[in-house]
Amino acid sequence: MWCDNTEVKETTKDCYWILPDGTDAVHILEIPAFTCVNCGSYLSDEMNHDIDMSLYARELPKGKKEFTYKELMSAQYKNIFALKQSES
Ligand SMILES: [Zn+2]
Repeated sequence: MWCDNTEVKETTKDCYWILPDGTDAVHILEIPAFTCVNCGSYLSDEMNHDIDMSLYARELPKGKKEFTYKELMSAQYKNIFALKQSES
């Protein structure tokens, strides 16, 4: 999927991300990424997965459509159990 250029450098990237429920998009800043002269900057599959999981499982910064990767990763996990109880 990516070229085999070994001259890949670490960088950060700002990305728009659709929330897991598909209702909205957020702008995530300073995501650790890689940059290649041929492919441009891109996120690893692991990073894509981590962000998807975090958006699903963590309490997002309230009322913010834009936050940094660090803010996302330091956000508390949702209390899934409490959430389910209040829905029933
Ligand atoms: Zn490349």
